[in-house]
Amino acid sequence: MPDKKVRVRFAPSPTGGLHLGGVRTVLFNYLFAKKHHGDFVLRIEDTDQNRYVEGAEQYIMDCLKWCGLFPDESPEAGGPYAPYRQSERKSIYREYAEKLVRQGHAYYAFDTPEELEQNRREIPNFQYGLAYRDGLRNSLSLTQHEVDELLDRHTPHVIRIKMPADERVSFDDVIRGHVSFETNQVDDKVLLKADGMPTYHLAVVVDDYLMKISHAFRGEEWLPSAPVHLLLWEYLGWKADMPQWAHLPLILKPDGHGKLSKRDGARLGFPVYAMSWFDAKTGELTPGFRELGFLPEAFLNLLATLGWNDGTDQELFTLDELIEKFSIDRVSKAGAKFDFEKAKWFNAEWIKKSEAGTLKSEVRKVLEDKGVVVTDENYLNQVIDLVKDRCVLLTDFYQQSAYFFEQPKEYDVNSVKPKWTDAKAEFFNAFIGTINSTKVFEPAALETDFKALAEEKGIKAGELMLPFRIMLVGAKFGPHVFDIATLLGKEETVKRIEKALVAFNN
Ligand code: GLU
Repeated sequence: MPDKKVRVRFAPSPTGGLHLGGVRTVLFNYLFAKKHHGDFVLRIEDTDQNRYVEGAEQYIMDCLKWCGLFPDESPEAGGPYAPYRQSERKSIYREYAEKLVRQGHAYYAFDTPEELEQNRREIPNFQYGLAYRDGLRNSLSLTQHEVDELLDRHTPHVIRIKMPADERVSFDDVIRGHVSFETNQVDDKVLLKADGMPTYHLAVVVDDYLMKISHAFRGEEWLPSAPVHLLLWEYLGWKADMPQWAHLPLILKPDGHGKLSKRDGARLGFPVYAMSWFDAKTGELTPGFRELGFLPEAFLNLLATLGWNDGTDQELFTLDELIEKFSIDRVSKAGAKFDFEKAKWFNAEWIKKSEAGTLKSEVRKVLEDKGVVVTDENYLNQVIDLVKDRCVLLTDFYQQSAYFFEQPKEYDVNSVKPKWTDAKAEFFNAFIGTINSTKVFEPAALETDFKALAEEKGIKAGELMLPFRIMLVGAKFGPHVFDIATLLGKEETVKRIEKALVAFNN
């Protein structure tokens, strides 16, 4: 039999912002699919109406777009297995739930929410399952006649899986190896809700089957659900088609104690979501990597290394390299500690290695958001090339390059004044003349002229460099000062010297 075509899916529930662990799940699915010339499907699991959050689906799609991880099939792109939004597939699921009831693997349960609440209050560790199901109102405890009557009267009910007694179910996880569960430990999960919507457990199995999913990589937090899913695959007669599962390791807090949560981000001062997420209900804005100034390439690169390496010391990978080198066998089962300093290192490296042309539109946005007007694209490119090695975040481009577009508003006079002399003022006045008469205005020649003039005036060139920098930049930072002057141009350099001389001589 030929190998099954590789088809993977990312199946988020649109309930809020997208945690970086979610994007890593997307990434690993995507890399695996692309490596094996397979399909990457985005399926929106929105059957839980109570948890549905307006705008969350669009936000998830925007996150994937920002990362450049485009699904081959999705609610937006369509595809041969549409619809890809589970709420639009509602009519599909009931028949499978009913089939399970007929087979004796599932049953109707008529308990009201109040009755269940009372049980939870009165019975410690109450679980709807083997231990209690006989005493509750369901088609296992009631007579056929009673059940028929309740159904005829359209009594609200759910369909629950009947977990078998004293069995062990197991599967081979691609990352974890052989994993097994005692069925007695697992409760009878609801499969179909009173509103006719499937729960996640039923919908995920039915859709993975109908959409011919070959591999399902998902977060470790879904491992406890695996026994229910395994039994459903088996009871529905689809076991041979079950996808290969890989439960990805958790992303841990920086200290390694427990899963990295949204709250940890707020506490420690770094983002946990891919993009900023605004919760309209609470009015809370949770910051994102994108808005903080991460490049998507860097974000993906750092996520790839959380739980995976290629077996060498290489840390920087393009998406194409990741596709080529990724192997699910090299994903570790141990949780991966998140290190924000390391995350920033990835970003700085990516900014360094990116062409000005690819950074341009983001940098322009950073500058324009702060009111800096950029008119000349070519000039912007040159500025980016000159300062990018000094930027860790895209937002750093504001501080590092605003002075190329507007004159300093103030000067770090404290760094100049104590050593400022008339002789130095005289030097700069003369230097204006040198600049005006020079024909080639480029860094090396300018530096030579600067040093020659300093020598002529009997002042150490080293003592003039800092004032010169502060004249151009306003402060003590930036690339080589002659590079700055050259890029600013003759006229602007002269203007800035003149303006600063007024401030320094005062
Ligand atoms: N809908 C689940 C989620 O929100 C999908 C889990 C799975 O991939 O099976 O993550």
